[in-house]
Amino acid sequence: MNKKQGYFGNYGGQFVPETLMPALSELKHAFYSIGRSEAFKKEFYSYLKDYVGRPTPLYLAGNLSKKLGFKLYLKREDLCHTGAHKINNAIGQVLLAKKMGKDRIIAETGAGQHGVATATASCLFGLECTVYMGTEDMERQAVNVTRMNLLGAKVVGVDTGSKTLKDAINEALRDWVTNIRNTHYVLGTVFGPHPYPTMVKEFVSIIGKEAIRQIKNYEGVLPDAVIACVGGGSNAMGIFYPFIKHKEVKLIGVEAGGKGPVTGLHAARFTGGRIGVFQGAKSFILQDENGQILNTYSISAGLDYASVGPEHCYLRDEGRVTYGYANDDEVVEAFNVLSREEGIIPALESAHALAYLLKNQSDFKDKLVIVNLSGRGDKDLSTVIDYKKGQYERDNKKI
Ligand SMILES: *Cc1c(COP(=O)(O)O)cnc(C)c1O
Repeated sequence: MNKKQGYFGNYGGQFVPETLMPALSELKHAFYSIGRSEAFKKEFYSYLKDYVGRPTPLYLAGNLSKKLGFKLYLKREDLCHTGAHKINNAIGQVLLAKKMGKDRIIAETGAGQHGVATATASCLFGLECTVYMGTEDMERQAVNVTRMNLLGAKVVGVDTGSKTLKDAINEALRDWVTNIRNTHYVLGTVFGPHPYPTMVKEFVSIIGKEAIRQIKNYEGVLPDAVIACVGGGSNAMGIFYPFIKHKEVKLIGVEAGGKGPVTGLHAARFTGGRIGVFQGAKSFILQDENGQILNTYSISAGLDYASVGPEHCYLRDEGRVTYGYANDDEVVEAFNVLSREEGIIPALESAHALAYLLKNQSDFKDKLVIVNLSGRGDKDLSTVIDYKKGQYERDNKKI
């Protein structure tokens, strides 16, 4: 076996305790044999079609295009069942777990979106589901806790550390070590130890495959640029991956560069981070000078994480993908613009990709652009209202 398997250049790998190695090894073999078989793909794609609602449209945002002076298409992942791209990965992994003979699913969740997607997929395939979630996040995302409970999942509050996502991941890994025999851990993005970054990428790459087919059909050519927001990096990898070999297409990932009003923290790993090992993989990480993981901030819970998928680090080193960021004011502005111009309320995560496009629009003159609209924004309304209140107070103090 290739010793460097699971690496993307210098990044990735399997940095886990010895006790987890059998589980990763079993998963890897199942993914490469069952997960890549034609029979599995056929079944997976049939659920993506009839349950998730794929293919999602590639929509020419006509009003916004007119304003911008170039053609902007939106890949409508917001129209997936449960409202974001995450369900694609969840269905892939839970279906694989079922084929592996597992009867129990565990997952971690931050904002609750991945927890809801996993609980949904577990319902679909009739498996028991437990979701680990920081107690701080449970309070902030009470509606998603209710959704998971409705879907029959058990939500376990994690009261250690910062009581957020990274603590929930640690707890899920601990559960997995103890219950390896009957349990599969559904990781929510292109992160963690091998085989997760590769497996999740393959499950979400349907996004880019469809986009290529659709844009060729509408325009007869490939786009000049594809833009996506980057939390762990799954929606971005999903749309980028099939485009990577088409070198003429510029790929741009957008991180959360908004700074917390109180803390000044952000989540732009490529701007403020360094190489390190965290939660099973070597990657870019926000850490202090002693290697302690920093707390992060983003207005969008889905981008609020200290690390980024290892393959993104590699693609950045190679110069194949460029990474930028957007701050909170720019993101809320983009959220408003898309809502008003097109009648589409985007997730705050997705609004980062759009915000980058709006602030750099002169770079895209006469270009053909696709933005991956990773999710819908209903979940973010109260966040935006609170943010605007804060903005108003800030502005009035200045006078
Ligand atoms: C979770 C989430 C993200 C961030 O996760 P990635 O793995 O980076 O895609 C982006 N958009 C939406 C709508 C999300 O729910």
